[in-house]
Amino acid sequence: MTSAMPTSTHHAALGGPPLTMFGPDFPFGYDDHLAHPAGLGRLPQDAHGSEVAVIGGGLSGIVAAYELMKLGLRPVIYEADQIGGRLRSVRFDGCPDDVIAEMGAMRFPPSSTSLFHYIDKVGLDTTPFPNPLAPDTPSTVIDIKGRSHYARTLDDLPPVFGEVASAWDSALEGTADFAAMQQAIRDRDVATIKRIWDPLVSHWDDQTFYGFLCGAPSFSSFALRELFGQVGFGTGGWDTDFPNSILEILRVVYTGADDDHLSIVGGSQQLPLRLWERAPDKPAHWPTGTSLTSLHDGKPRPAVVRMHRTAGNRITITDADGGIRTYPAAVFTAQGWMLLSKIGCDESLFPIDVWTALERTHYMESSKVFVPVDRPFWRDADPETGRDVMSMTLTDRMTRGTYLLDSGPHRPAAICLSYTWCDDSLKWLPLPVHERVDVMLKSLREIYPDVDVRSHIIGDPVSVSWEAEPYFQGAFKANLPGHYRYQRRLFTHFMQDELAERHRGIFLAGDDVSWTAGWAEGAVQTAINAVWGVLHHFGGETDPANPGPGDVFDSIAPVELGDVTEVL
Ligand SMILES: Cc1cc2nc3c(=O)[nH]c(=O)nc-3n(C[C@H](O)[C@H](O)[C@H](O)COP(=O)(O)OP(=O)(O)OC[C@H]3O[C@@H](n4cnc5c(N)ncnc54)[C@H](O)[C@@H]3O)c2cc1C
Repeated sequence: MTSAMPTSTHHAALGGPPLTMFGPDFPFGYDDHLAHPAGLGRLPQDAHGSEVAVIGGGLSGIVAAYELMKLGLRPVIYEADQIGGRLRSVRFDGCPDDVIAEMGAMRFPPSSTSLFHYIDKVGLDTTPFPNPLAPDTPSTVIDIKGRSHYARTLDDLPPVFGEVASAWDSALEGTADFAAMQQAIRDRDVATIKRIWDPLVSHWDDQTFYGFLCGAPSFSSFALRELFGQVGFGTGGWDTDFPNSILEILRVVYTGADDDHLSIVGGSQQLPLRLWERAPDKPAHWPTGTSLTSLHDGKPRPAVVRMHRTAGNRITITDADGGIRTYPAAVFTAQGWMLLSKIGCDESLFPIDVWTALERTHYMESSKVFVPVDRPFWRDADPETGRDVMSMTLTDRMTRGTYLLDSGPHRPAAICLSYTWCDDSLKWLPLPVHERVDVMLKSLREIYPDVDVRSHIIGDPVSVSWEAEPYFQGAFKANLPGHYRYQRRLFTHFMQDELAERHRGIFLAGDDVSWTAGWAEGAVQTAINAVWGVLHHFGGETDPANPGPGDVFDSIAPVELGDVTEVL
């Protein structure tokens, strides 16, 4: 994240190589590894064609399956809901296909370079996402404490907003060596990244985002903290993140994850769907033209309901249709709490400290409501002021964030009436979609008394609360203070040589084990870790010219925090 108040001043000042999601915890160049002509590795001949279960057909599962297929294995994907998972693009009945509601991920930073490896591979186009005060956003309204402020850039807002931006920049620079870290990430200077980051991990692991702000001299004023919470960062209000570990926030701002967002034209779900259908060039073992679709006869297997160990350290999976199948290896990419709830598991699948880490996972709730409208009426000029009649809106009212999604003049468009997190999302939970829309339109009416949004709606609204979806436990993980050790256990689980033999062969991947949960880049990076783990498990190797994450693990491993007392 960077400020709606631009932290991006840092970007402009630094220049040079691009800022990417390289570290800071595990600074491995996943993008270079993926692009290398030597590929991700080679398996022994006798492993070719071996089946590997992949649980979850979201981005992580599909990327892992695609790369395992390229290596010559036979991935068997289980998907309970739909391919794409939290890349879920919904069309409105009766509206053109390009009017889309992105129920999950909707904006991607260019620093997600491994994600963009796949976006480019499948030939998807991107377009700037209309974030608050972003250069391509026609206008922004910040409505707070009953007053609305109209702006095209930060300079149009009252000076106090500039003070908030400076306070945030000072807090980052003063306590987190911000500019030096971004330069080190750009330079892929692992030694400097570690020199800055590792002490910060032990210093800040027990601190919330809000506690960090309160301790920063630049945020000694409550009013500034309050304003920052409402509008503080590129994507909007971040006060719902205040209880989370400040380390989570630092990862995002260091790596530019909240900057310069792009959306995928036609919907983000196309990415996993196109990879599912894509026949890679020159796969090992498989004939040309083989794709995940062809290996699965067009559809994945259904939900997994049971996983247990059977003789020879194999993993036996039972699915919702009663099918039972046994695998030498498995990659698990669904949200971790599924292992504690919907899937009956043997405890021997993982070491006990991994179970503890899974159990401690903290999820962010999130709700969205979209409506299709007849045209981008918000671009109409108010006859008195000449301003857009309606704007991208951040507010402290129930709606919190309203996004205007233009598909071109004189064409149907979409409005994300409200995008909320945590407590704000839970407020919507008891309301059916039409009641949600009523409350949202009432909020917007307070801000735009002369605009009749309802008169432009041309179809049924669509809504989601991720915490109420049957195969999800919330939008995504967000670590709380004190969670670093758990996070490290989950992320490093693909390194299994030190594990007891009975705990090997199943690899955790996906958003839940990523250092940057809530960003699709982490789903890709952890998929690549799992691919390396499976390759290693089958006795395969990477090309020395293109070492994988496990080959260099010891030299860049996430810092380990010790403990003073062994309690148990
Ligand atoms: C509201 C929201 C907003 C977001 N915004 C952004 C954003 O703007 N930018 C960004 O980069 N990222 C964003 N993200 C994060 C991004 O969507 C995720 O990082 C990514 O999609 C996760 O992919 P995954 O494969 O790890 O998990 P998922 O997509 O969750 O895939 C896991 C799959 O497992 C399946 N499953 C569950 N249980 C079972 C079972 N028992 N058997 C078989 N299958 C099962 C699920 O149905 C699901 O399809 C957002 C996410 C949400 C929810």
